[in-house]
Amino acid sequence: MNRDYYEILGVSRTSDADGIKKAYRKLALQYHPDRNPGNKEAEEKFKEAARAYEVLSDREKRSRYDQFGHAGVNGGMGGGGSPFGDVGDVFDAFGDIFGDIFGGGFRGAGQNSRRTKSQSSRGSDLRYILELDLEDVLIESTKTIEFKIDGECLACQGRGTEEGYHPETCGTCGGTGQIVRSQGFFSMASTCGTCRGRGEVIRKPCKTCHGSGRTGKERKIEVRVPAGVSSGTQLRLNGEGEEGSRGGRPGDLYVEIRVREHRKFSRQEDHLITTIKINYLKAILGGESSVKTLTDEQILTIPRGTKPGAILKLNGQGIPNLRSGRRGDLVFQVEVEFPNKLKKEEEKLLREIAQMNGEDVAPEAKGFFSRK
Ligand SMILES: [Zn+2]
Ligand SMILES: [Zn+2]
Repeated sequence: MNRDYYEILGVSRTSDADGIKKAYRKLALQYHPDRNPGNKEAEEKFKEAARAYEVLSDREKRSRYDQFGHAGVNGGMGGGGSPFGDVGDVFDAFGDIFGDIFGGGFRGAGQNSRRTKSQSSRGSDLRYILELDLEDVLIESTKTIEFKIDGECLACQGRGTEEGYHPETCGTCGGTGQIVRSQGFFSMASTCGTCRGRGEVIRKPCKTCHGSGRTGKERKIEVRVPAGVSSGTQLRLNGEGEEGSRGGRPGDLYVEIRVREHRKFSRQEDHLITTIKINYLKAILGGESSVKTLTDEQILTIPRGTKPGAILKLNGQGIPNLRSGRRGDLVFQVEVEFPNKLKKEEEKLLREIAQMNGEDVAPEAKGFFSRK
């Protein structure tokens, strides 16, 4: 299944780095997806060559491969699959190697191309931080959020001109948005100062947007927040970001959840953690305690002989799992409280118990604990 990397690139085992790079470029061009649209076999070959190049272009990986074969470089890949899941990964890894061949526009149409005057553009994505209390995440809720977005000016429909006027091609740069100057051997391109790179100028700007074609707009939308979200959970609302310009699609809105810290409960995944203080007699003899949950009060059973640091739980009183909806537990860490001062009668009885158990205790003192 795994072909020899040298064989894939068609180079000898003694080939130098330059030879390997050249061989890879040749293959990458041959099997490039833009030249072989829809051809699965070419895509596989393209990825295979990238994998071979990845290993053989790295001195350390190459030497491991020479010594141990595929086992030396595949690590935990399980079966030695290519790390390049799709061709996009290949561009991410080796895009720069193609740059000088394709002049930077390698990844297909438009990606690096300059925005020209008539081109529509997609609106920006927006991020909104939504703060919630821990109680809010127990059940699904709908929150109304309000924010300002940058959108197409309604007065001029984004043209930036007053009614009846149209933007004109910039005379300084001839509509390219750039000024090219020659300095000795070099040509330097800079953004046109007259039109600020837009390639067009507006003689009679719209009074509402002052020629920008964009205005701030108030937005108010309702967001459905599922139960069980936690800090960092992102909710994506398609098309609720900034409006596109000149017919471009709107961006998306990402609502990022921040759950405020609770005074009493800390959260560990779906569990809520808190502490409970129990009197030493209840810890020894057992009993019941009334405890606060996130929403109400419940009875927690204290088993006989509960030790300091013990963990007691109320099952299903935690946070619902975001996916399954199953609630975690409410977890209590036990602290055992001892009285600061004993009543006379209490001390007498405790001494009797100590004697009965043959416990060698300090002679009678003023307080329960010896203090300075
Ligand atoms: Zn210009
Ligand atoms: Zn306007």
